Amino acid sequence: MKNYIKHHPWHIVEEGFDAQVNRVSESIFSIGNGKFGQRANFEEKYSGDSLQGNYVAGVYYPDKTRVGWWKNGYPEYFAKVLNAPNWMRINIRVNGESVNLAKVEVLDFNRTLDMKGGILHRSYTVKLRNGITIKANIQRFCSLHQSRHAAFKYSLVLDQDAEVKIASYIYGNVTNEDSNYDEKFWSGINTKAGGNNCTVITETKKTLFHVGIQTTTTVTHSSKNIAFSDSESNKRTAKISTKFEAKKGEEISIEKRAVIVSSLDIQKDQIEATIKEEIEKNTKKSFEDLLSKHQAAWAAKWEESDILIEGDVSAQQAVRFNIFQLNCTYTGEDERLNIGPKGFTGEKYGGSTYWDTEAYCLPFYQATAGQKVARNLLIYRYKHLQKAIENAEKLGFSNGAALYPMVTMNGEESHNEWEITFEEIHRNGAIAYAIFDYIKYTDDQKYLAEYGLEVLIGIARFWAQRVNWSEHQQKYVMLGVTGPNEFENNVNNNWYTNKIAAWCLDYCREAIEYVKETHSADFTRIADISKFNISETKKWQEISENMYYPYSEKHGVFLQQDGFLDKELIPVTDLPASQRPIVEHWSWDRILRSCYIKQADTLQGFYFFEDEYTDEQHKKHYDFYEPLTVHESSLSPCVHSILAAKLGDEKRAYEFYLRTARLDLDDYNNDTRDGLHITSMAGTWMSIVKGFAGMRVKDNELTFKPFLPENWESFSFKIRFRGVVKKVTVNKNGLEVI
Ligand code: BGC
Repeated sequence: MKNYIKHHPWHIVEEGFDAQVNRVSESIFSIGNGKFGQRANFEEKYSGDSLQGNYVAGVYYPDKTRVGWWKNGYPEYFAKVLNAPNWMRINIRVNGESVNLAKVEVLDFNRTLDMKGGILHRSYTVKLRNGITIKANIQRFCSLHQSRHAAFKYSLVLDQDAEVKIASYIYGNVTNEDSNYDEKFWSGINTKAGGNNCTVITETKKTLFHVGIQTTTTVTHSSKNIAFSDSESNKRTAKISTKFEAKKGEEISIEKRAVIVSSLDIQKDQIEATIKEEIEKNTKKSFEDLLSKHQAAWAAKWEESDILIEGDVSAQQAVRFNIFQLNCTYTGEDERLNIGPKGFTGEKYGGSTYWDTEAYCLPFYQATAGQKVARNLLIYRYKHLQKAIENAEKLGFSNGAALYPMVTMNGEESHNEWEITFEEIHRNGAIAYAIFDYIKYTDDQKYLAEYGLEVLIGIARFWAQRVNWSEHQQKYVMLGVTGPNEFENNVNNNWYTNKIAAWCLDYCREAIEYVKETHSADFTRIADISKFNISETKKWQEISENMYYPYSEKHGVFLQQDGFLDKELIPVTDLPASQRPIVEHWSWDRILRSCYIKQADTLQGFYFFEDEYTDEQHKKHYDFYEPLTVHESSLSPCVHSILAAKLGDEKRAYEFYLRTARLDLDDYNNDTRDGLHITSMAGTWMSIVKGFAGMRVKDNELTFKPFLPENWESFSFKIRFRGVVKKVTVNKNGLEVI
């Protein structure tokens, strides 16, 4: 855990330069606009430890997998979001010495993320080895107003007259640190440099995406324009440079604007013309004009999604940070895009789509950005239905059974650890649950008839084939699965998986009845496409009515899986701190044999299906499982916070909230350096809205069961519900909804 970020309601502030935490800060200060994003790498050369990261939404590479023992059914590749050419790069040399914070004396340094306006600020004073002192101020943004644009303004003042060389380039010779075989994933197509402009058009190997970037850089000194005198370009990089005599105390200003597009949006042969046109369209606009439009777009985002907390600056900063990053990651206009667990802030998890989207992220976007955005998240999976059917076929299923991938970029499974790829099948349930949740929230019943039902039929067919009848139990059982708790693999009858499977079968039957009655033409169309026969539902009903659920009479709880009680049930509080996190200290074999739970598993089912259980059952299950939970997934604390709030345990609800809200700002799990935990950020929002405010949809109405954390004066947020925006405030006098 680290504690160097200064508290402020709207700003994330780092004061003083500590190279040791540079990677952590590069993650925390990341910015993006839903179309592309970047880590907070420096614009100028930096030879210290850094993870360079610029990412363009939807542009990925199928890296060759690394597996020890190949299993039939494995996908051929692991999809990676690509580190894209770096549009920001500049080099500054003063009297022959490079400005490089790893090599000079840093006298002061400040990095501030202004979340209100979406602006990354940096300032520093450094003393070069040649004795010259430089003061710099930088502002950078990825435009939320014009989603193909980004820009920075970099101003420098020297304490002596000196010769200054400035080079501005697009650096395209980039790699991914997580590349399995150290391959380069890009081949250059076209680079150009001349005048103030650089252009790089490049193509991903194998997937053949094109990305086109054009930049224009202006340098002024003593209010005069300095022309670029040299240019050079090679296969992947384009560079312009200039040199001039700078005067002591007079500002040097470097302004760089970039346009970034990909072949997801623009035809390949139109990319060059488009980036040129886009750059030219802003020629007459000042940096300040562009910035203020961008700030206005952020103001609109905050208008719909801010949570105001009074009386606790640290909590206020944290929740805004989470909301800021969620809005940087996904804006929801494009149904082909989704939410990578690290957004645009790192390479880990490949930028791919996980069950995280449906199980954790949907409620935030649904309630803040609105129905269309939430619908696009569902349509993403609808469009992947055929691939999910093929995925199931590869594993031996038939008749249109669909198994959605654990990890995907384009609908194909791109993850290969057998215990997850083949066994962590509960993800299928989350995809069905999201349809239910969306309709319950929006009342967009038409969605079922247009898209949802087809997906539900594929999923129901999968579950019906995945179970088998046990003569011994006289029940349907599900063998060889991994539940949400990945610290158990290949278990039989994971309660959560059995429960969500049975629920899917029931929900699909209800959906069929509804669509048949109310949208008969759609029903016929879907039955036709899916070759669906109504007699299939008989079997589904039989399975769901006869599903086996492991249960302990003694404890009065459903068991996480068969045999769970054979484990030594030693509470986590008895584990020495030196052995935590267990994933870093214990062998895998020891973890698997232990009772320790990585994240909500049985409790995930209680969270989803709360109306089916009494408060007493909730309490029993919470009291049984939470003490055995190590919360070593960032998805864990938020679900526990919501459950604790439901049970009236305000103290625990708040403690869990803190773990999700400041997870990255305080680097709780020591892994922020790899990128931010975007999914858990959605969990932070849920902890406040579903946890502290106790918001639910019941009988088509929003209901609340609020409490106010002890040290807060009040909290308030806006909720978009069925076309109406409501403001919810919880303060010492209770709840107000207007
Ligand atoms: C969690 C999964 C999650 C994945 C990506 C893993 O650590 O156990 O539930 O889908 O991270 O966030």
